[in-house]
Amino acid sequence: MFFIQQTKAYFLRGWTISRWARALSSIRTVPDPILLKDAAPLSKHSYLRRFLIEKHMRFIFRHVPAAGLAAPQVGSKYRVFLLLPEDENAKKPLVFYNPDLISLSGKMEEDYEKCLSTPGSVLVPRSPKITITAENRRGHKFQASAEGFSARIIQHELDHLRGILMTQYGAAVEDDMS
Ligand SMILES: [Zn+2]
Repeated sequence: MFFIQQTKAYFLRGWTISRWARALSSIRTVPDPILLKDAAPLSKHSYLRRFLIEKHMRFIFRHVPAAGLAAPQVGSKYRVFLLLPEDENAKKPLVFYNPDLISLSGKMEEDYEKCLSTPGSVLVPRSPKITITAENRRGHKFQASAEGFSARIIQHELDHLRGILMTQYGAAVEDDMS
């Protein structure tokens, strides 16, 4: 009985690790040129494309340690990003298609950011409040506002969609390994 349990545990772990490794290995990192390109808007009638991009991004998002993910980071050239809401009960990310900045407000605040596509951390100044418009999978437009950490992530992901990496704000410092 003990042996069976051990075997099951082993297989379960192997399966989890392989999915995690597959997700992580599909993250594009510098110097991949897709990270430096302007992402393209999705047309109103691209439901199937939106569905496929979202499915791919959600799969990867589940397996990586991130609060946000932009489509170019997974090799897609379209204007899409995912954001995990700060709400502790939120397990699923929100998806924003064709996001556009409406306004930034408040006094700029500096904080360290990390990115799956670039090594280390960078001190980046961001506005504490942001309002954007975006579309859902069906192409319906909506407006969203965020503050604090979420506002920072949205600005980071909007940068990705313009081909801007956090390293353009300053030099990366190595992560503390302790
Ligand atoms: Zn990033």
